[in-house]
Amino acid sequence: MQQQAMAQAAVQRLVMQRRRAQAALDRVDRSVYGLCCDCGMEIGLDRLLSDPAAPFCRDCQEERDAAR
Ligand SMILES: [Zn+2]
Repeated sequence: MQQQAMAQAAVQRLVMQRRRAQAALDRVDRSVYGLCCDCGMEIGLDRLLSDPAAPFCRDCQEERDAAR
């Protein structure tokens, strides 16, 4: 039971990762990859390299994290 719950949590994370990756690929298709989904500014290259699916620039992400 415990094992199953943990496996389910792992699957949830995979689903989330796939959604983020798919959204990033959609942005590639629309030629807006690398631009923040919120403010439209360029997402820093170092940020994209460490998280290629990052949808927001550092400032907007921090704002979201703070609002949570
Ligand atoms: Zn932004």
